[in-house]
Amino acid sequence: MRIWAIANQKGGVGKTTTTLALGRGLAALGHRVLLIDLDPHASLTRAFGVPLDPPPQGVLELFATPPGEISALARGSAIPGLDYLCAQAALATLERRSANQPGLGLALQHALAQHGQRHDYILLDCAPTLGLLMINALAAADRLIIPTQAEPLALHGLEGMVRTGQMVERSRGRPLPVSIVPTLFDRRTRTGNETLRQMQDRHGERVWEDAIPIDTRISTPATLTAAAHDDNYPGRGLSAYRRALEWLRAEDAAQLERAA
Ligand code: ADP
Ligand code: MG
Repeated sequence: MRIWAIANQKGGVGKTTTTLALGRGLAALGHRVLLIDLDPHASLTRAFGVPLDPPPQGVLELFATPPGEISALARGSAIPGLDYLCAQAALATLERRSANQPGLGLALQHALAQHGQRHDYILLDCAPTLGLLMINALAAADRLIIPTQAEPLALHGLEGMVRTGQMVERSRGRPLPVSIVPTLFDRRTRTGNETLRQMQDRHGERVWEDAIPIDTRISTPATLTAAAHDDNYPGRGLSAYRRALEWLRAEDAAQLERAA
């Protein structure tokens, strides 16, 4: 079981889109995949067509006493092999309500450990807030994937996220490899190309050499959550995500080899 946290302290950079596209790609390869929506805004949950009022069962239950079990809370999607766990709006106040509960930073990790090997990949779609949910995701993750919009203002968010990853890595004493995926790239603009080069200069091998292009077809939720009759990836955006997925899996394989 591999756990990937998809996070960036900036909103609107393609985190949820990346989670869905990678999840869909992994399921198409025959893997059992679980996507977990850790954002109180619940974009991922909404993408699967789940109404939020009344709130669905989901992530909040993992933080209850006693905690709920993932296998009982996860739902199956229209895509074979792709399951998901819903977010609720009340996740936004989880931190405040549970201020003095010790060990809450590891609740997700424990829930995933208990879940056993029912999924091959678990993808954690994070909110841009550096809080309890993000800490839970990074504590549990085997890899931190940082989608970064290829524009100058996004570079600050990237630096912040890399530092947060390093902080978690130090405190848990287990490597947290980082992979940076440039998103929303417009190759016709100079700023887009320059930002990409800056990312590569600063973060080297951790940056995917390619980029996810802007592709309006990707922004229709149905593209990512409805079962396709053929698993051809429609559009440049999704085929770029397929290449990104190959790179991420190769990075995982290299990391496991180094660790062995
Ligand atoms: P985040 O989860 O980081 O807030 P989203 O994945 O929700 O970001 O993406 C923000 C917006 O940009 C959404 O409306 C999404 O559909 C759109 N979007 C994301 N990636 C692309 C892309 N490659 N091309 C076009 N639109 C995109
Ligand atoms: Mg999102």
